[in-house]
Amino acid sequence: MELLLLLVPAVLLVLMLSLMVFYQVSGIGQQNSAGAREQMNARLIDNFVRSLAVAENTIYSKNAALNDMAARLTLSNEQLVQLNSMKSKFLSMVVHDVRTPLASIRGFSELFAVQPSATERQKNMSKQMNIAVDRLNRLVSDLTDLAMIEAGKLKISPAVFNFYMIIEELLPQMETLAHNQGVELKYDQVNRNALVNGDKFRLSQVLQNLLGNAIKFTPKEGLVELKTRAEGRWLYAYVKDSGAGIHPSETRKIFEKFYQAKHQKNEQLRKMGWGLGLAIAQEIVVQHKGVIAAESKGLGHGSTFWFKIPVESILRDEEFFEKPEKPKNH
Ligand code: ADP
Repeated sequence: MELLLLLVPAVLLVLMLSLMVFYQVSGIGQQNSAGAREQMNARLIDNFVRSLAVAENTIYSKNAALNDMAARLTLSNEQLVQLNSMKSKFLSMVVHDVRTPLASIRGFSELFAVQPSATERQKNMSKQMNIAVDRLNRLVSDLTDLAMIEAGKLKISPAVFNFYMIIEELLPQMETLAHNQGVELKYDQVNRNALVNGDKFRLSQVLQNLLGNAIKFTPKEGLVELKTRAEGRWLYAYVKDSGAGIHPSETRKIFEKFYQAKHQKNEQLRKMGWGLGLAIAQEIVVQHKGVIAAESKGLGHGSTFWFKIPVESILRDEEFFEKPEKPKNH
């Protein structure tokens, strides 16, 4: 700004001098008397001085307005930081206060269902209650993860493990889910011996989200396929479904927080989620230095979600099947 303040008068001065020189050299005023020439020069100088003063004034007032704006921006930035920290505190408080009563409701509802005096209708009511509580619990844990991501505290605890272990632990639960939905779940055991250095719990969360979504968005008699393969230094996992599909304009957006595909018209399915799972999955995969993406041939043509994470090493089959050594008693 100071540079501008110096520059403008300097430019005006140079202009003024050049004009004066031009008058002298060109001889425009040669026919006039010396007095007339002097008068003209004086008028010119006067005009320039006046424009200079106007320009200076404008610069000063613009500078003051800019300073004022900068001060206001600093203030609102501080307020934003403060508001953001208040939001994070509020979120963790709510999460904590909701979790405890939810656990009690779930416990009592299960107890209620096994009472010998419970009628079929009451048992059914208790089942519905459990479904609602489970949904709320999922929301609470997604919100916890979100708060951690926003605070930069979602850390992974890496350890070397066989990625197939995740699938082995997750499959029974996912098969039940698929079965209840009337969807077929297939797993292609191409790779079951790839070691990865990662957070088993968090990576399992990613796979669970992708499989859960695939089952949720696939209608009865549809197919969900899980495939894993190790290639080069990467372990790839693919979850392919024959379900709702995704509009090409939304295959990236669905990884944003709270985003649910707008082109999908099934309100019931939308209400079953919050648009947080994929955002969390993406954060976990990125923290593992991996990549996650979605592909679809369009609405009604199914989708494939895949991710890749660095692989530590690939075991030979005999290594994989080796029995762990029994701990020695000392
Ligand atoms: P949620 O499923 O809880 O709404 P997600 O973050 O897991 O949240 O998914 C965001 C959105 O991405 C979903 O609401 C849905 O619109 C879309 N989506 C995710 N998985 C699939 C899938 N397998 N098929 C079609 N759409 C999907």
